[in-house]
Amino acid sequence: MTDLAITRLSAAQADFDAELARLLAWEDSVDHQVNESVRHILHQVRTRGDAAVLEFTAKFDQLSVASLADLEISQARLQQALAAIPADQREALEQAAERVRGYHQRQRQDSWQYQEADGTVLGQKVTPLDRAGLYVPGGKAAYPSSVLMNAIPAKVAGVAEVIMVVPTPAGVQNDMVLAAAAIAGVDRVFTVGGAQAVAALAYGTETIPAVDKIVGPGNIFVATAKREVFGTVGIDMIAGPSEILVICDGETDPDWIAMDLFSQAEHDEQAQSILICPNGDYLDRVEASIRKLLPTMERAEIIARSLNDRAALIEVADLAQAAEVSNRIAPEHLELSVADPEALVEAIRHAGAIFMGRYTAEALGDYCAGPNHVLPTSGTARFSSPLGVYDFQKRSSLIGFSAAGASEMGKVASVLARGEGLTAHARSAEYRIQSEGGQGDE
Ligand code: NAD
Repeated sequence: MTDLAITRLSAAQADFDAELARLLAWEDSVDHQVNESVRHILHQVRTRGDAAVLEFTAKFDQLSVASLADLEISQARLQQALAAIPADQREALEQAAERVRGYHQRQRQDSWQYQEADGTVLGQKVTPLDRAGLYVPGGKAAYPSSVLMNAIPAKVAGVAEVIMVVPTPAGVQNDMVLAAAAIAGVDRVFTVGGAQAVAALAYGTETIPAVDKIVGPGNIFVATAKREVFGTVGIDMIAGPSEILVICDGETDPDWIAMDLFSQAEHDEQAQSILICPNGDYLDRVEASIRKLLPTMERAEIIARSLNDRAALIEVADLAQAAEVSNRIAPEHLELSVADPEALVEAIRHAGAIFMGRYTAEALGDYCAGPNHVLPTSGTARFSSPLGVYDFQKRSSLIGFSAAGASEMGKVASVLARGEGLTAHARSAEYRIQSEGGQGDE
């Protein structure tokens, strides 16, 4: 097994800024071969529809059928999958779904308007997307929790049709994924994946309808395809590797913290786990726990590589400095494993999700706490937010002038339009300017 050599840093060291920057950099390599093959797949699906999707599904997923309609999963089959999974899995999925739904219902935005003294009405009309496409990865592993986290906010927003795509290599379907789709209320499911599935959702084919937005994670082919179709449709985000940052006051059981760091490291070698603590001895104790527990992990090899390449144990002067370093990192997941998380959270400005106190393991947020587990990565928490109901709602401005209001504002618009040299704009506004007590002027 890979030997462990975890990076140790101190905020007091002279080159701390440079070392932190080095730690946060990751290989977001543009793979020209992947780009080229994704562009080819997109073009083929755009121009040849179902036939191209069928060919790529046969080639990449070893699944050959006569018609794309054969790859649609019926609602009856979804219900059958729900009945087929073990009772504890069904109950866990249902309980998680209920909490995710409850949380997201509170995010729903409503339309609003207000009236001015002259009767003019201004407002904002909120409407759901007509159709959302949900990509569920299925090449190497199955992710039922992803189904819940992506589909439920869309349904809560009122999206009329949620269309899910999930590859089923060699036709092997995962009942837990299908059961999650049943619980989340997904409307249609197709067992296609990769760039060809993204293309079908973006452009529409004879069988798969075009959607307005595509959400959900996937491998490099899926991510590249989403990047390419952005503009034709909306997308949620392009996620980087998972990250966890733990700020600990040195009083939490070191085994708990070691396992929390593992819980991100086990995703893949590029995942990042960082611990910040004002107590250097405590960092030693967590490192000892890491060494003790690592051999007990099923994914020990992946964890070891992730810890060696991307993890760090950082000593700081105090919790205030810990918060400052955390804000520079803007982590996807931030655990505040301290006695008074309420006090510390005041200083936190950038984080996808904040886990408050020693008992709040990040893993709870991945599955069943209620908030969304699709979070901004790679420092993008500086300017973006978790996936939510608001990602499936859009806003239209409402403007309704009374005659008096149109007359008054017509004068303002006229001046500005003439200043810009736009005569039609000016005259359109001027028509509605009322002469003393009468209709608009000619
Ligand atoms: P996937 O569904 O993303 O990809 C499988 C598809 O890739 C196949 O259907 C195939 O069409 C396509 N493909 C494979 N090889 C190809 C090739 N040579 N040329 C063209 N297309 C090809 O499933 P996966 O591969 O298991 O990847 C899942 C990914 O999703 C992982 O990277 C995982 O880390 C990520 N993930 C992220 C989150 C998150 O929240 N960030 C959650 C779950 C999964």
